[in-house]
Amino acid sequence: MGNSNSANEFIILLAPLSGPLVPITKVPDPTFAEKMVGDGISIDPVTETLLSPCKGKVTLLHKSHHALTITTPEGIEVLIHIGLDTVNLKGKGFTPKVKEGDTVNTGDTLIVFDADFLTKNAASLLTQIVISNGEKIAEYLPSSGMAEAGKTEILKLKLIKANYVPEQKEESSSLESQDIRILNPQGLHARPTAVLTNSAKRFASDIKMLKDGREANAKSVVAIMGLDVKYQDRIRLRANGTDAAQAIESLQSLIRSGLGESLHGAPPEPKPPLQQKPDIEKSSDPNILKGVSASPGIVAGKIYRLKQDDIEIKEESEGRTKEREKFLSALNKSKIELSELQNRLRNSADVGKAAIFAAHQELLEDPDLLAATEEDMSAGKSAAFSWHQAYNAQADILRNLNNELLAGRANDILDVGRRVLVHLTGENAAKKEIPPGSILVAEDLSPSDTASLDRGRVLGFCTTGGGATSHASILARSAGIPAIAAIEERALEIKQETMAILDGDRGELRLNPTQDEIDRLNELQNKIALERKKNLEEASAPAVTADGHRVKVVANISGLAEAEESVRLGGEGVGLLRSEFLFLQRSEAPSGEEQAAVYTAIAQALGKDRDLVVRTLDVGGDKPLAYMPLPSEVNPFLGVRGIRLNMVAPELLQSQIGAILSASPYSKLHIMFPMVSTIEEIRLARKMVEQQKKELAINNEVSVGIMVEVPSAAVLAEAFAAEVDFFSIGTNDLTQYTLAIDRGHPRLAKMADGLHPAVLSLIAKTAEGAHKHGKWVGVCGGLASEKAAIPILIGLGVDELSVSVAALPQVKAEIRSLNLEDCRNLAQNALKMMSAADVRKMAAAFLENNG
Ligand code: PEP
Ligand code: MG
Repeated sequence: MGNSNSANEFIILLAPLSGPLVPITKVPDPTFAEKMVGDGISIDPVTETLLSPCKGKVTLLHKSHHALTITTPEGIEVLIHIGLDTVNLKGKGFTPKVKEGDTVNTGDTLIVFDADFLTKNAASLLTQIVISNGEKIAEYLPSSGMAEAGKTEILKLKLIKANYVPEQKEESSSLESQDIRILNPQGLHARPTAVLTNSAKRFASDIKMLKDGREANAKSVVAIMGLDVKYQDRIRLRANGTDAAQAIESLQSLIRSGLGESLHGAPPEPKPPLQQKPDIEKSSDPNILKGVSASPGIVAGKIYRLKQDDIEIKEESEGRTKEREKFLSALNKSKIELSELQNRLRNSADVGKAAIFAAHQELLEDPDLLAATEEDMSAGKSAAFSWHQAYNAQADILRNLNNELLAGRANDILDVGRRVLVHLTGENAAKKEIPPGSILVAEDLSPSDTASLDRGRVLGFCTTGGGATSHASILARSAGIPAIAAIEERALEIKQETMAILDGDRGELRLNPTQDEIDRLNELQNKIALERKKNLEEASAPAVTADGHRVKVVANISGLAEAEESVRLGGEGVGLLRSEFLFLQRSEAPSGEEQAAVYTAIAQALGKDRDLVVRTLDVGGDKPLAYMPLPSEVNPFLGVRGIRLNMVAPELLQSQIGAILSASPYSKLHIMFPMVSTIEEIRLARKMVEQQKKELAINNEVSVGIMVEVPSAAVLAEAFAAEVDFFSIGTNDLTQYTLAIDRGHPRLAKMADGLHPAVLSLIAKTAEGAHKHGKWVGVCGGLASEKAAIPILIGLGVDELSVSVAALPQVKAEIRSLNLEDCRNLAQNALKMMSAADVRKMAAAFLENNG
């Protein structure tokens, strides 16, 4: 039993442990539930001896002994991961009974673990069995119910073409599509390309993308990026195989729908040729070096020049099989590291940044990179040499394209390439001890380097490479590390330990500052730090103005980690959960239960005394959902967006409302509908909530409200107020729709100012309308977190400010420094102004007087 059947068409895995089987999508860890490591199954174990589910070789035993990979004779990598977050136990509670390189039979003991210890010290005992090289699998057939270790079949894997010969030969055909015009504003950069390759991998056919006489494997991200497909380019698809027709049809409509991107952003501005560095004025002062601002903040510290050591690579092979095994093991170790890194970022509320490493993980499965490595290994080269050649060649191709976005991805290939190389060569990646108080200077920092910087030692960094949009800069901003990119080359020659001030806002590095300058900087920083500390200490107290007016301060969140963080930072609840962000990257709609689990977890994190306002899907506009491709529209911001989803997919909205309602016992639940512009829409939405409540027999009180972000809702606020329980003003959209300026427009962004008197007058009208009917009104747009806007919003009668999580303590402190009467006067004067600039000037003078 176990392993392949006679025709070698299937591989059968037997239960490695006894216990109930759990679908992989139900595992409470997105790394597994979203199949980032691979597809498979999970088991909730009642036994403590992990048996091999198949015959094969142990190609990876993680150093923490909580995970291993068995590679079957067919080359299928079966990764078994005991428990969740068990890597943190550093091997405690696990006794491995095999080592890397051992051959095992189905049912052999692999690892014995202490379930009691794991239950107390890990997030869960759920054990995942997943296939990490899924491109070889045509179909997964998981079992359900109870499993008995060594006996029950838990997963049947149908293999793809090369691994087996189908019994009935299907007709194979070769087909080519018509020309397809690419309308993605940035062309086929990494994200849409990944959507395409993931879909292409579902087909057995060989699929190529053709452009200008060149062709690329449509299942390979690096190959497609190498074609440098730009906005308005024409491409074709060619498929060869039994499912060629379906592949062409499905992929071409996917490309036409935008591959998960909005097709209506502004087309790219022409860029200067890449080889040139951005035009940065050079400083004539030897002590001042200029670059571009990559992350704001100003710090004083000592220069530490960071050099990446060269890794020694042996070319000669120790035999093909051995090299291949080494390669598989290095790939697997890297995949596990990357999924742990993603988890860490997710838990630190950095959901978006985790995607950078998810893309790295995908590169490790790129068929072209793997094939190029395989080819060299077959020609008698070592795995390290072959892999090094393969990823450098791909990075060179991207670097030499005249395309800044793709050149940025070359760094990602080099980064992930180096990660695997370190495992292959056994070269210790142990970081050199960076002295505390350092300002790092390097040619470039990889995303991995940036994500693992020790905040206790590194105050800031500057790189001669990169730019404001490179991943290192994005990560620096999210970690709050001041940074400069594209700094003058002579930065690399600065002597170690030179004293310097790094000004991230101005993109300037000042060497050998005077003691006086350092003292002044330290003084300023101490003042800011003291203020922050004080605000944090007082964060849990309510925000009451000096003359006794209470304003509720709540948070805008997009997931559980931020909900938890908001409680820590004194949030009185959540004023906006942007539910569309919970499942943004998914290719299939989340089930009702899956959604319910997330809403419930968030409600529980907030508790019964706090408000939770869940906004229903605000899909459309600039937020396309990969699993919900909407027909393309000329003006998507004026199209099927927000509550209008009900017109194209009412079942989706219904199932979401049901899922939200299941969180009602755990906090004060509010359901909010976005983009409401007519009374009929809100009546219909209310009806849907009532219907779902009845169907699900939910009797808890649930408020129903709307976002006021379309001028019609603000103008008719009084009429709308009679129909809802609350309003929340979305100033981001209200500004865009009032001033007719696309909120993401690169040229007009500065004009889209929410302090424009026209927008303020709509806010005033909304507050008036709400209060006439005794309803409360909040602001959840970006304006609520802006220091200059806070007194005006309060003066206009806003009852609640919903702000970014990090801003909670400051906003509360700001409110405490105000006086309601003064705010009212300020607001009334603002309404009489002619421009946003005038309002800003007046607000600045007000704040200055206010101390
Ligand atoms: C807004 O429009 O102000 C708002 C809060 O919603 P979003 O930014 O998600 O559109
Ligand atoms: Mg909005």
